Amino acid sequence: MTLETIGIIGGGQLGRMLAIAAARLNFRAVILEPQADCPAAQVANSQIVAAYDDPAALSALASQCRVVTYEFENVPVAAAERLAALCPVFPPPKALDVAQDRLTEKRFLNSCGIETAKFHAVDSQQDLEQALADFGGCGVLKTRRLGYDGKGQQVFRSAGDTPAGAFAAMGSVPLILESLVEFEREVSVIAARGRDGAVKAYDPAENVHRNGILHTSTLPARIGEQTGFAARGAAERLLVALDYVGVIGMEFFVMADGRLIANEIAPRVHNSGHWTEAACAISQFEQHIRAVAGLPLGDPHRHSDCIMTNLLGDDIEDVPFWLARPNALVHLYGKAEARPGRKMGHVTELLR
Ligand code: AMP
Repeated sequence: MTLETIGIIGGGQLGRMLAIAAARLNFRAVILEPQADCPAAQVANSQIVAAYDDPAALSALASQCRVVTYEFENVPVAAAERLAALCPVFPPPKALDVAQDRLTEKRFLNSCGIETAKFHAVDSQQDLEQALADFGGCGVLKTRRLGYDGKGQQVFRSAGDTPAGAFAAMGSVPLILESLVEFEREVSVIAARGRDGAVKAYDPAENVHRNGILHTSTLPARIGEQTGFAARGAAERLLVALDYVGVIGMEFFVMADGRLIANEIAPRVHNSGHWTEAACAISQFEQHIRAVAGLPLGDPHRHSDCIMTNLLGDDIEDVPFWLARPNALVHLYGKAEARPGRKMGHVTELLR
């Protein structure tokens, strides 16, 4: 029997966990990533060391692979489209296009009947002043593209003078001002759609961020049944609207009355779904591999309550503590250098 190969664009920890899941289902994995010996390549069959949009590298990848997927949302859309002309690429490049620009993303969510924060496009200091005035002086200013983990953001909490030069301070790039959402908690849903159109969603996780970076995901989330139902329903509508294949992560703000406001989507496996590897028989990583390879989706049932904690920077020194805890699954990412805030690993503790 010849083993088939799955291509993964991006060599970080998400690619690493996808490669491990692929191997368990008898797939070979090849990683396209410019940084040699990246976390994903350490556990994969081979690596193409090249830029994500290198035409020769994309052709080489397509020639080896039954299907190509990606582990981060900033894969250049043109590269994904070039590749899609050569071999199947899942999730579809359209999902990258929607997720890469916060303005496009919000408009797309709204077109699916999914509520978001109110927003204005901001392309100048004057736009910013008008937009802030419309929101009573409060709002969250974000770069439209390439922001992650709270980077490229500025929060305005009270009506007052709009800081002169705020637009320039953000780099004079296209921005979006969102209304400041007074949420009670944050949750996310990890859902998957197969090549046959089947959809499966995991239980919503309750997420706590520190300095804009995910700190913990806890299951079950403290939300009512209706709110959980609505979150899964929104994810399903989005997957169908995008004709999506693979796992998607969708983050929401939960208001005091249980109403949901979608914050952002990630067309990939998601940090707030890492708990699934310990608390479900089929993890989000296996689910994604099943989906893109055209295999039947697995059961997303959660068998345990749990809490997933990210190990950032020096938290890696806590590993001996976690290894001594019963029911704690430690997962490390093969990164030699522990810079502050860098995701080094995570641990999921089963609670009951
Ligand atoms: P993001 O990069 O959009 O995921 O934002 C990072 C974090 O900033 C979110 O998880 C929230 O905690 C907070 N945040 C982002 N947008 C808003 C908003 N419009 N209103 C209130 N808090 C926000």
